[in-house]
Amino acid sequence: MIVLLREDASPEERAAVAHQLIAAGAQGPLHSVHAAPGDVFIVQDATITRAARTAIAALPGVVRLVTLETPYQLASRGFQPEKTVVPVGTVRFGGPQPVIIAGPCSVEGERQINEAAQAARAAGAHILRGGAFKPRTSPYSFQGLGLEGVALLARAGAAAGLPVVTEVMQPGMVEAVTEHADIVQVGSRNMQNFPLLRAVGRAGRPVLLKRGFAATIDEWLLAAEYILAEGNAQVILCERGIRGFDPHTRNVLDLACVPLLARLTHLPVLVDPSHATGHRALVAPLAVAAVAAGADGVMVEMHPQPDVSISDAAQAIDPAALAALVEQVRRVRASLSDVPVAAER
Ligand code: PEP
Ligand code: MN
Repeated sequence: MIVLLREDASPEERAAVAHQLIAAGAQGPLHSVHAAPGDVFIVQDATITRAARTAIAALPGVVRLVTLETPYQLASRGFQPEKTVVPVGTVRFGGPQPVIIAGPCSVEGERQINEAAQAARAAGAHILRGGAFKPRTSPYSFQGLGLEGVALLARAGAAAGLPVVTEVMQPGMVEAVTEHADIVQVGSRNMQNFPLLRAVGRAGRPVLLKRGFAATIDEWLLAAEYILAEGNAQVILCERGIRGFDPHTRNVLDLACVPLLARLTHLPVLVDPSHATGHRALVAPLAVAAVAAGADGVMVEMHPQPDVSISDAAQAIDPAALAALVEQVRRVRASLSDVPVAAER
């Protein structure tokens, strides 16, 4: 249950609500979150009687109580029916235009990331990506350039006029990364790294939360809930494929999750067809399909010279392919502009 407090509720009113909640049997400690339009208390509500709810709803500091069946609360469309729009510079995740994030898997050096940034800009992409802290399956693979890579990415983005996104893997590095990055990415392998989720929840920067490759949608939304519960409302979800059995594709792109998430949550949803497929030839068709399914944008790996990519070469597209993809995605979105998105629960 969520208790939404008035924006101007006094400390005494807040204390009275907390007191009454505990008296009604809410399991403490009460989780208090600063969220627009006012603060909220979140409580496990199984034991709170209807009479107690009515009494709490009538307290002076309370706007309303929201009782939801879902395990996630703040992420639920039931709590917030209107879609969350995450602004990054002039870009609006969840706004009317599909957002395109493009760039290499890894920042490899100054020249490579600058070329990638200029190519992304010229192709019409909105955000530059580039991994500097790489979550590699093997300890012997290239691990990324670390903070130096983050700084190179930020400089390349600034020179091209593009905000940047990069991954962070450790809670202790969040501050250093957000100093340079406009958006921080939590990767698939860290989707349930709870200390990291809490740390990015306190970072005051938009977070791109990728789906764990074996995570259910509820687990994913509960991971988002960790970030929201720390008071950071700027969460963007990114589907990147889930584990399948067929080695023809790296993962299986779960496109059904896109319209499903539109019903379950108010958070914007992106799709990453690069990690989903592992094949550059499949990236554009699935980017188009994602936007047709209602995705708020796509994230794709693009390298100025795909074949010499240090990581994920097979799925990297070149600048010309990115330009074609951007054009196709725009056309598909424009063709859908009359179709209303269902927000029913
Ligand atoms: C990435 O986007 O750089 C990445 C490593 O993807 P994922 O976490 O989805 O595997
Ligand atoms: Mn990659």
